[in-house]
Amino acid sequence: MSPAIVRKVTIYPLRIPMRGAVEHAEARRDEADPIVVGVELDGGTCGFGETLPRPYVTGESRQDALDFIQTGLLSAIMSFNAPTFAEALEAIEALPYLSATNTRPASEARAGDRGPVRSEDAPPSPAETARRDAARAAVELALLDACMKHFHRGVEHVVGWMGLPETGPRSRVAGHGSTGPARRAGHCLRGSAVLASADIGRLRKKLRFYRFAGFRDFKLKVGFDRDEARAELVRRSLGHALSSGRATLRLDVNGGWSAKDAAQELARWHDLPLAGIEQPLARGREAELSGLRRFTSAPWIHDESLIDVEDARRLIGLGVADVFNVRLSKCGGFLPALRVAMYARRQGVRVQLGCMVGETSILAAAGLRFLEAFPYAEWVEGCFGTWLLRVDVVRRSLRLGYGGRLPTVGGPGWGVQVDEGRLTALSAPAPIVLHLG
Ligand SMILES: [Mg+2]
Repeated sequence: MSPAIVRKVTIYPLRIPMRGAVEHAEARRDEADPIVVGVELDGGTCGFGETLPRPYVTGESRQDALDFIQTGLLSAIMSFNAPTFAEALEAIEALPYLSATNTRPASEARAGDRGPVRSEDAPPSPAETARRDAARAAVELALLDACMKHFHRGVEHVVGWMGLPETGPRSRVAGHGSTGPARRAGHCLRGSAVLASADIGRLRKKLRFYRFAGFRDFKLKVGFDRDEARAELVRRSLGHALSSGRATLRLDVNGGWSAKDAAQELARWHDLPLAGIEQPLARGREAELSGLRRFTSAPWIHDESLIDVEDARRLIGLGVADVFNVRLSKCGGFLPALRVAMYARRQGVRVQLGCMVGETSILAAAGLRFLEAFPYAEWVEGCFGTWLLRVDVVRRSLRLGYGGRLPTVGGPGWGVQVDEGRLTALSAPAPIVLHLG
């Protein structure tokens, strides 16, 4: 078999209109802005990866990510020459990260900065430092997709190479074929309904829709002005299902509370069983969570606070690690996300597979493949496809079915057929094409 050598890289900075606005404490968006990277190997095999950089998650703007792909990652792509799948995985794992800090010194802080601001002379603490992993994720996923196709290997080979102690049931680890919804402990994993709207009327409609569509796991974005009305609406619509265990509810605060506010905010929800509270405080303030334990017994879910294994260790050390929200884009790609998830499992920390708002079916498909390697996720988010986007970039958009049933992927690599014409048409500005060699 010929070696995997990259001969062309195309970066698609996409702008895709969404069917409705998605809002949370840190952002509002009615247009999706994924970055898709396509790599073409000698011989013509193509692979695709995707990322959605968020300054409040990994410290990267969209422009930062575009720049880093063309500078920090380009030499690794140009020298990519793998005679075997194992050597391809070694080169993929060696893709660089770029250090960044999620806090600003006081002199650079702007009005409206929600995260902590450090004093002038203080260096960022480990808790404040995150690597720029989102840009890396797009390239990592594209190379993995291309190499799985080129060498006719699936995720079971990736898991085997990584030497991870456990993999999914054999029937699920079939990365080259078509696979059904992931299973955990004998039951199908379901996708969660995500309720992200500042407008109470829109939230009511969404709730009705998801109840009608049979969803059982709900995640509600809070940290807005009208959280009291939001709590009342959820109480009326879901209260009975929650109390009887037929539905679950997680709150996602996106770091929008201060430790001082949290007691009062949590009081609104005292009569509803919460399955988890995601990122109540900003990254860097996790030590303050111990003091909040007396106000709620709901598990803490770490999202913006959890990028890599170092973060996982830090959170476990603080004694506040209940659930980790692992996301491929945020964690730097498939391999690092899998390492974080497996580390969490070994440490007895539960895992949720999260998604990015506005992701296309490329990233969603990689998420479904991730569940083949790690079928232990407590909750799964993603696969909104053309429920959320006006147009997708694959032939058959991956969308959750009735009750949040996960869609299937089939074929080599991520198992989706990417439409390059649509990628080009949706790019704004135009795609960046780099011919190598
Ligand atoms: Mg979150």
